[in-house]
Amino acid sequence: MISETSSSSNFIRHIISQDIKDNKHNGKVITRFPPEPNGYLHIGHAKSICLNFGMAIEYKGSCNLRFDDTNPEKESIEFMHSIEQDIAWLGFNWSYKYHSSDYFEQLFEYAIELIKQGNAYVDSLSAEQIREYRGTLTEAGKESPDRNRSIEENLSLFAAMRQGEFTDGHYVLRAKIDMASPNINMRDPALYRIKRVHHQRTGDDWCIYPMYDFTHCISDAIEGITHSLCTLEFEIHRPLYDWVLEKLQTTTQPQQIEFARLQLEYTVVSKRKLAQLVNENFVNGWDDPRMPTIAGLRRAGYTPASIRDFCERIGITKKDSWIEMGVLENCIREDLNDNAHRAMAVLHPLRIVIENYPNDQEEILEVSNHPQKPELGTRKIPFSQVILIEKDDFAENPPAKYKRLVEGGEVRLRSAYVIKCNKIIKTEDGKIIELRCSYDANTLGKKPEGRKVKGVIHWVSEHHAVNAEIRLYDRLFTIANPESKDDFLTVVNPDSLQTLTHCKVEASLGNAKASQRFQFERTGYFCVDAVDSKADKLVFNRTVTLRDTWS
Ligand code: ATP
Ligand code: MG
Repeated sequence: MISETSSSSNFIRHIISQDIKDNKHNGKVITRFPPEPNGYLHIGHAKSICLNFGMAIEYKGSCNLRFDDTNPEKESIEFMHSIEQDIAWLGFNWSYKYHSSDYFEQLFEYAIELIKQGNAYVDSLSAEQIREYRGTLTEAGKESPDRNRSIEENLSLFAAMRQGEFTDGHYVLRAKIDMASPNINMRDPALYRIKRVHHQRTGDDWCIYPMYDFTHCISDAIEGITHSLCTLEFEIHRPLYDWVLEKLQTTTQPQQIEFARLQLEYTVVSKRKLAQLVNENFVNGWDDPRMPTIAGLRRAGYTPASIRDFCERIGITKKDSWIEMGVLENCIREDLNDNAHRAMAVLHPLRIVIENYPNDQEEILEVSNHPQKPELGTRKIPFSQVILIEKDDFAENPPAKYKRLVEGGEVRLRSAYVIKCNKIIKTEDGKIIELRCSYDANTLGKKPEGRKVKGVIHWVSEHHAVNAEIRLYDRLFTIANPESKDDFLTVVNPDSLQTLTHCKVEASLGNAKASQRFQFERTGYFCVDAVDSKADKLVFNRTVTLRDTWS
């Protein structure tokens, strides 16, 4: 899958290269990323961001951020802030920041021009009637009785619409194209509707708002966009995009090019659906680490580089395809394997008393932060008589080939000594509470003499260890394609979050900073939760397991 869609198959790159050779758009490359500020950005948007900003960087052009803010009732300043933060975090800088609402006046003037040309009219059909008149894929639509209203009357009605003389929905402005067009988008699409909603930027200045199809192409033209890159569902809107610009003879003629949306298994990439998960409390906010939002991925411990790498690996094609979650996870796993400091954390502690180790002694072991990268330095790990190991690194009745600790058996403690289990201490009802062990003082950084010890386990010194809460995340949905369900909320995974409140982590992690990432030896990759972790209560999120246990 990766080789098929690698960067070399980026067909948009080919188009742009050719355009530059042909001196189309005067050899310039100006792109834009145009989110609607009605939610947080998700991993699908990252694909579009990497493409739009990436092409601008590659061809020494520029890329604008444009908030497509023409549906005020669902949009907010909070969403705008989060979008800016996420793009910057991904590592991109926009040349200019614009809003579709910056162009409301110009758009209004352009609409008047279309009316004057006889290419737009004010229609009194209701929304329902418009739907009825529109026809179907196999049947031509019907012309509205208002279609041949005079230009003068259209002009004065449109002005009155703006002045607020009609109730919401009473009139719409429609393009006059072709009610028999095989492309339903060309059957006199609406350009403006009356809607009394407060706009976060223009306040109550407007009671009419332009539709997406009218706004987008003109905004592109005003900004001098050369390549307007969007997802495939806009392909059938392209004739309308071109029609508007052709009628208005704008000074620049942007070119719309469509590519396939990112579809990622076991999650949903739609702001509307993500908003539902947030609003109905299936997750704890837009930045919940289970969310495929940029904010969620960041909080889970993803790096900007890993997300850019993912976008590069999946490539850009014209064909819809589903990407396995493992592809995204591999990107962060490889990044953290290379770059994250190692540490030891015990998620389910089992107490070990080393009976032949003096109880008033402690040793400070100097351990490297990364086995292959000495430049990442070392840290100090205290060793003492009582240590904690992972419950399942001991087995009373070991299965075949079990290499960890068993009664009477030996195991190496990572970076420390070989210990032997001599006795199991249990409660009256048979629960193991402690192991009595002995250590071989000759095995620090050395193999024991005359025998082989295969297993190596991680541990922390009980007295020095720091308490931590560790959150383990699983897929947010129980099926690969939740959107195939009538109600995607019925396939939310009820066990997607497991919170472990009695974990013990090595002393050095007491100084860990918000968002700092680690490989917990043998356990996985984790990062300090940026929201809930406090100096006196450490909280870690599992970013990803050590290996791809999913496939
Ligand atoms: P959503 O359904 O999540 O709201 P959208 O397409 O309506 O998505 P916009 O805010 O309009 O979201 O999107 C901004 C840009 O991001 C658009 O150019 C859009 O095509 C692109 N985009 C959105 N979702 C994806 C995706 N899954 N894969 C690739 N690009 C996407
Ligand atoms: Mg949208």
